[in-house]
Amino acid sequence: MDFDHDEQQSLFRAAVREFVNSEVVPHAARWEDEERFPWETWHQLAELGLCSLALPEEYGGGGSGKMMLCIATEELARASGGLSVAYLVSCGVAMDGICMHGTPEQKGDYIPRCARGEVACFALTEPDGGSDVAPMRMRYQTTNDGFVLNGSKTFISNGEEASFGVVFATKDPEMGHRGVSAFVFERDVPGFTVGKRERKTGQHCSSTNELIFDEYKVPRDALIGQEGEGLIIALESIDKSRVSVAAQALGIARAAYDEMVRYATERRAFGKALGQQQAIQWMIADSATELEAARLLTYRAAWLIDQGNLAIKESAMAKLYASEAAGRICHRAVQVFGGIGYTRDAAVERYARDQRVTEIYEGTSEMQRWAIARQVLGVK
Ligand SMILES: Cc1cc2nc3c(=O)[nH]c(=O)nc-3n(C[C@H](O)[C@H](O)[C@H](O)COP(=O)(O)OP(=O)(O)OC[C@H]3O[C@@H](n4cnc5c(N)ncnc54)[C@H](O)[C@@H]3O)c2cc1C
Repeated sequence: MDFDHDEQQSLFRAAVREFVNSEVVPHAARWEDEERFPWETWHQLAELGLCSLALPEEYGGGGSGKMMLCIATEELARASGGLSVAYLVSCGVAMDGICMHGTPEQKGDYIPRCARGEVACFALTEPDGGSDVAPMRMRYQTTNDGFVLNGSKTFISNGEEASFGVVFATKDPEMGHRGVSAFVFERDVPGFTVGKRERKTGQHCSSTNELIFDEYKVPRDALIGQEGEGLIIALESIDKSRVSVAAQALGIARAAYDEMVRYATERRAFGKALGQQQAIQWMIADSATELEAARLLTYRAAWLIDQGNLAIKESAMAKLYASEAAGRICHRAVQVFGGIGYTRDAAVERYARDQRVTEIYEGTSEMQRWAIARQVLGVK
């Protein structure tokens, strides 16, 4: 067994870390306060080839696979949870359906656009259901030259920045999962509106919006895969992308852990450094152990995917464990900081807010446990 990155992966991590330290770390807190998407940094990511890192080489992508995408996501998340979610959605889940089921024309159009730094979104969740998406309300009708979409999506990451995206709609709710189809859509087309922006707990530099489709026309070649395959495409995309959320949680947890260790060394109470108190040492020991376990689960799942496996159980385990471990680590980091940990003056306060949603999006912890149990028990 090999437990470490190879030389190429280590060099890549060092390069991304250097970029993040100079271009993201100094600005991330301000982007949060201003609730502003950092377009200038996004364009730098595109110039460095990070936006197309994991996309197929024959269409202008980097062809690097999930491991590299997770390394980049972890490093970005260490500095900015919001930037990292924009990244893992636009360059991951939003592109996965197109890469796996798209026509050569769709791949030839959207992969280079993603590589050039256009932002994409993935629009599945509706007001009536996020975990249970089969009873979908958004409808489509077939016309002579394409389809007409009507309905709305909610909680869509990159809603304000995306110039294109993947959206799911049903022909007839009575048809259940067999009625759902997937479409690529363009922002600048009549009938499309970006609706309400959610006022979130954290990750403020990333927009999360309602998307409204009103008599919105798409051509026939906007269909991804076959009619009726939409739910399979959605679930496969999420299955493939889930490990990136584990990497995001890992990055946030690492940032909180590093701050906790630094502060425990510097801050003094009762005549000695906090880190010399056993209660604080235990918090650090538990965090170091959980961080390592999360890292191993995450990169093993990414490696399995790069070997051509679906790795549904392993990705779910990685996402479940890394996100919940990150929650415990951020909680302890705030505790070690004491009063200042509860203020905007301490970065750990931001990490704790940014972490929380990693237990919710791309499948809640309950849905991960469900997926793991079904795999273990062999339930269809
Ligand atoms: C910041 C943010 C960004 C997001 N970005 C996107 C995006 O880009 N695209 C997109 O499509 N969606 C996105 N979402 C939506 C997200 O995926 C959903 O919020 C999530 O899947 C949960 O769905 P829900 O909110 O409808 O909760 P519900 O499904 O209503 O669940 C509520 C609670 O009940 C639990 N629960 C539900 N069913 C069961 C069950 N059978 N057994 C046990 N417990 C159960 C859930 O785990 C949860 O704790 C985003 C959400 C947030 C907050």
